[in-house]
Parts: sequence; C-alpha cells; structure tokens
Amino acid sequence: MSDKVVRASAYNDMVRAFAVDIRTALDDAIGFHKLNPLSAIALGRALAGAAMISEMGKSDETVTTIKIKGKGPMGGLVAVASKGGTLKGYVVNNNYADYGDDAKLGVGPLIGEGTLTIVRDLGMKEPYSGTIPLQSGEIGDDLAYYFTYSEQIPSLVALGVKLNPDATTKTAAGIIVQLMPGAGETTISEIEQRLFKAGSASSIFEKTGTPQGMLEYLLEKGNPEITSVRETGYKCGCSRDSMKRGVISLGREELEKIINEQDIVEAVCHFCETRYTFSSSEIKNLIIN
Ligand SMILES: [Zn+2]
Repeated sequence: MSDKVVRASAYNDMVRAFAVDIRTALDDAIGFHKLNPLSAIALGRALAGAAMISEMGKSDETVTTIKIKGKGPMGGLVAVASKGGTLKGYVVNNNYADYGDDAKLGVGPLIGEGTLTIVRDLGMKEPYSGTIPLQSGEIGDDLAYYFTYSEQIPSLVALGVKLNPDATTKTAAGIIVQLMPGAGETTISEIEQRLFKAGSASSIFEKTGTPQGMLEYLLEKGNPEITSVRETGYKCGCSRDSMKRGVISLGREELEKIINEQDIVEAVCHFCETRYTFSSSEIKNLIIN
C-alpha cells in the first residue's frame, strides 16, 4: 500500500490539518466497480474525505461513513474509512451514460439535490451522526459546510481527483484544515491564500508529491509539525458469513418468497462486487434457525 493519511499541527496548535494520497485505493475501486470517470471522481473525493475524517477520531476502532443521497442520475454514494487504515465505497448508480448532458456538467449535477450524512462509529454504544443539505454536491464544499455548521469547526476542505486518459488515477488527494477555538482571523486567510495561489488540492499534490509535502506547503507560515503518517488502502472485509447475515436481515417472509421462486440465492457485496451464492436449502435452514 502506498496510500497515506497524514496529520499535522501548526500555528502553535491553533490549526490541525490532514492530507491524503489515495491513488492506489481509487484504482482498486475503479477496478472493482468498473467506475465510469465521473463516478470515479466522485467516489475518490468522498474516500479522500472519509480517510481524513477517520483520522480525527482518537481510537483506532473509529469507522467513518460518508453517505450522500441525491436526486441526480448518480443517486449518491457511500464511502467508509477506518482509522486502522482501510477504505471502501460505492456509487449508488454507475450506469448513467445516457444522461449525456448531465455527465458533462460534473459531479454536482450528477449527484443532484440531496443530503450528506456523516456517521462516526467510535466502537461505543451509539454511533454519532449528522446530516446537512448538499451545498453543491461537489463533496469538498459539502464537507466544509458540514464541519463549519454542523460541528462548529471552521474548516477548509480541498479534494482533488484527476484521471489519466486510460481511466486510471492520476491524482487522488485531499486536504482538511481546521481552526481550533482561539485561532486568529489572519490564520485562515493566510492558509486560504496559499491554497488560492496553488489553485487546487491536485495542483498542490502535483507540486509536492506527498501528503506530508502538501501540509508543509499549505501551512508553511505556521511552522507545521507532522504528527502522524498512516498507511491506508482499499479493503472490503466481507465474508460468506457477513453476507449470510445480510440475507437473513431480509426477513422471513421475503426469504420464503425468494426460495419459492429460485433454487439459488445470489448476494453481491456492494463494496467489492464479490458474488456469494446460497442454496435454497441453506436459506431454509436460516429461516428455521
Ligand atoms: Zn466485499
């Protein structure tokens, strides 16, 4: 795994910041899901965001899920990151080639009006979750809005995904900068100016080559200190047993209907497209037990 999530602090601990490079994970996602280019860009941005948000949690058990629901042809997406260093995700509908004009407009119109929900499961009793209306559907803006209004943490979010002509990943990078209470007004404008000068997360990555380099560039005036570097990568973790539990959750009535109609029940994992088959007699046993 060459993908990394990096954390830094700067401006005398008044600023905490995160940066990622997830090119390998996005190539894996493109391979698993046969993502069309705009799906790949959308999912890449969300996975980059999820990887950084997950790094904010204290415990390695923290699992962060970004759920986007939209009325556009893509329908939304799900991106999941664990602080332990795994990423997975999918787009709700990858088959919208016929929506030609929408597809030209970019990620926002393909997602459409909708909501963004962040669920943080800290491995305790209840997961913590918050939802906001989508601002632009471009994901970076939506995450910045989420932190600023839902969690009252002024945040700068820049996500950059670019593909090569052969549909592999060229850049899949992101930055989140957050101001701690008491941070000076000039701090954020100094950082914003650095970002503005560079242009985008992709261009900072192209300039510096690593997430560490991105943070050092962006926070240059605030004496940045890299406080952690963690490897991450695409990993689903599904199994026949976990899929069986999913099949059981359909409920007795639905399962009886299915086995009356077919001999084999097939379940496909949303995250890695692995197909699991269960015989109808196996399903019968599940219903009885
Ligand atoms: Zn899977």
